[in-house]
Amino acid sequence: MEITFLGTGAGMSVTRAHTAIAVRCDDGATLLLDGSSGNSALRNGEAVGIGPADYDHVLLSHDHPDHLSGLMFIQGRRSHVTTEETPLPVYGSSQGLDGLRKAAVATRIPDIRELSPVEGAAFNHSGREVLRWREAPRGHRLELGPDTVAWSFDVDHIPGSIGWRIESGGVAVVFSGDTTYSPSLVEAAQGADLLIHEALYTDAAHDLAVSRLHSTSGDAARAASRASAAQLILTHLDNPFHEDQTPLLEDAARHYSGPLTAAYDLYRITLDRQQ
Ligand SMILES: [Zn+2]
Ligand SMILES: [Zn+2]
Repeated sequence: MEITFLGTGAGMSVTRAHTAIAVRCDDGATLLLDGSSGNSALRNGEAVGIGPADYDHVLLSHDHPDHLSGLMFIQGRRSHVTTEETPLPVYGSSQGLDGLRKAAVATRIPDIRELSPVEGAAFNHSGREVLRWREAPRGHRLELGPDTVAWSFDVDHIPGSIGWRIESGGVAVVFSGDTTYSPSLVEAAQGADLLIHEALYTDAAHDLAVSRLHSTSGDAARAASRASAAQLILTHLDNPFHEDQTPLLEDAARHYSGPLTAAYDLYRITLDRQQ
C-alpha cells in the first residue's frame, strides 16, 4: 500500500495544502481520503502521478471546507480528462454528504447541472452521472476492491465527523480526520499498522486544542499507544509547526514509543504486509 499526503496543513494554513491523502492499494484500488480545498489535491496529485480519473473511491471525514471543497475541482477535472468517466463516488456520514451537496451547488461547477438527492447523484450537462454519494453507516464494511475494505467510526469534532479504517493486502491504516482525543478511534485503531492522526498543537495548548475540537500531538500519541498502533504519522499541522515539527514530535514521544513521523505535503510512505 502506497500512501501519499497531498495536503498536511490545518484550516488556517498559509504554507501547506489542506488535508487530502491518496492511498494506492496493492489490488489496484485507489482511494482519496478527504479532498483538500481549491485545486491543491489536483495539483499535488499530478505532481506525484495521480490524476483525478485515478480515484476509485473518496472517503470523506467531515464537511469543513478544508477537507471537502477541493472535491468539486477533482470532479470537474475528472470530467474533462475522460469521456468515459465513471461517477466520482464519495462515502461519508449523512451530515458530511449534506455538506458535499451544498458545496456542489454553491461552487457552481460548470459540469454539474442537476443534483438528485433521491438517487444520490449529480449529473452533467449531457445527463451523464458525474458524482455519486453514499452514506457509510458507522462500522459498515465497504468493499472497495478485490482485497480492500473500509469502515468508518465516530470521532469527536463537529457533528457527523468520522474517521476511517482501511484494510488492504494485509495492511490496516486508520485516519482520524479532525478530532479531539477519541476513545472510539482508539477502539477502531486497535492493532493498526499505521495511525494517521491530526495534531494541531503541542500539549502546552491542550485546552485551546480541545476548545477548537482538535488534538495535540500528545493526544495523537496517546491514541496510538492505547491502540497498539505500529506506527504514527501526525498531520493537519498548524502554521507554527510547518517548518519545524520538533515540538510536536517531542510531545508525542512522551506518550508513544513506536515509529513517529510528522507528514509534509507530498510525503509518501509504502506499507507492506507484516510477516
Ligand atoms: Zn480540518
Ligand atoms: Zn474540521
